[in-house]
Amino acid sequence: MTASPDPRPLGQDAHGGPVQAFFLKPGTARRPRIVRGEGLYMWDDAGRRYIDVSSGPVANNLGHGNRRVLDAMQRQAEAVTFAFPSLFETEANVMLSDLLTSLAGPGLERAFFVSGGSEATESAIKLCRSYALAKGEPARVKIIGREPGYHGATLGALAVTGDEHQHAIYGPLLRAMPKVPAPWTYRLPDNHTRESYARHCAQALEEKIQSEGPETILAFIMEPIGGLATGALVAEDVYYRLVREICSRHGVLLIYDEVMSGAGRSGTFLAADHWPDARPDLVILAKGIAAGYTPMGCVLAPAELVRDVAEAGGFMHGFTYYSNPLSCAIGHAVLSELVERDLMANAAARGTQLLEALQGVAERSALIGDIRGRGLLLAVELVGDKASKRQLPLELNAPTRFQQIAMDQGLAVYSRRTSNGQYGDWFMVSPPLTVTAEQIEEIAAGLEQALATYQDELAGAGVLS
Ligand code: PLP
Repeated sequence: MTASPDPRPLGQDAHGGPVQAFFLKPGTARRPRIVRGEGLYMWDDAGRRYIDVSSGPVANNLGHGNRRVLDAMQRQAEAVTFAFPSLFETEANVMLSDLLTSLAGPGLERAFFVSGGSEATESAIKLCRSYALAKGEPARVKIIGREPGYHGATLGALAVTGDEHQHAIYGPLLRAMPKVPAPWTYRLPDNHTRESYARHCAQALEEKIQSEGPETILAFIMEPIGGLATGALVAEDVYYRLVREICSRHGVLLIYDEVMSGAGRSGTFLAADHWPDARPDLVILAKGIAAGYTPMGCVLAPAELVRDVAEAGGFMHGFTYYSNPLSCAIGHAVLSELVERDLMANAAARGTQLLEALQGVAERSALIGDIRGRGLLLAVELVGDKASKRQLPLELNAPTRFQQIAMDQGLAVYSRRTSNGQYGDWFMVSPPLTVTAEQIEEIAAGLEQALATYQDELAGAGVLS
């Protein structure tokens, strides 16, 4: 194993402070220093191995050290690493656009590449606005989002993100956009079934559009399969159809944020493919399209929409690194792997196996209240009491504590509380799409062990009845 050449005390920077000063609260255990990754596994500088249970933050879809991607990276780097798209066209960009739009299917013929999910959200927002102006509808200035929901960390993305806590801190810097409730399936208001609540939430969108004034609404943005904000929430089928109908009726563009759910993770290329009668107008991708090998995001849009914007003067928007050729070459290699190794089918099959394995764990664990998701985008919700679905006491910060226990046992798990702890008592179980049947069993067994350790700790503290 390569030892770290850094002579400083571990976790300490040149100024004697913590290396991760921006992220870690004082007193938090320092994070392992990773020196190598291969497939599902990562190793730290002390030679300890970690299972990448959640693919980082659900990004690393091909596992670590993929040979084809590394070779493509090197080939493109040797050819040309940078060519500004306002001045030049590159083969890498053209090839990635062709492959990605052919996978995305009809109605999503144009791809605008950026450096991550937040930039993709910003770009989609501006594209919607540009389209409204091109159509002569300047009054359209609002994008409705869901509560809770997550669309990125930049201010425009935060405006459409549903997270009370973030809005309490950064809200005064921006113009928050209207929100409607997410169609929960686990804890339902009294007198609701899943189906009736899904209808209720779709109706809430209709009412919000009406109360805001339909002529002022540009778009509705939602995660078709939730990410961390909802713990992989999948709504009842009727929700998608109703939302599509409502948006179409009011000339409101429907944006699917597939930063987490896209690029094969749910078992189909887009999560949207699970609901063919509810196709979105725009799709945002990131994470999986480059699988953590380079920062990359993308907005997919219909050819006519882009043409109308171009004819009205063009899209007044861009970044230094948009359509970066090195990133595009990497994205092309990632998607080629996805297709040629049939990893979407693997995501579907291994996802079913993982779900069943976790359901078995849930039967033996007092802590698992719900398991949600589709394909290899799953989340496990922790509760203090299964029967009443009671949350664990807020002050315990269960997801963070569980994350630490798992890490100590060699499992890297992604979790984070949101909205002042109102949401987020879950962790993502979303290994790379290359995961094997044996590795699924290894993950389930590891999680069962870590959950048992946490359950013992909580029982010892008298938290569990
Ligand atoms: N949208 C969703 C659904 C996400 O999960 C994320 C990131 O987790 C983003 C947008 C923002 O992406 P990024 O962190 O690449 O800016």
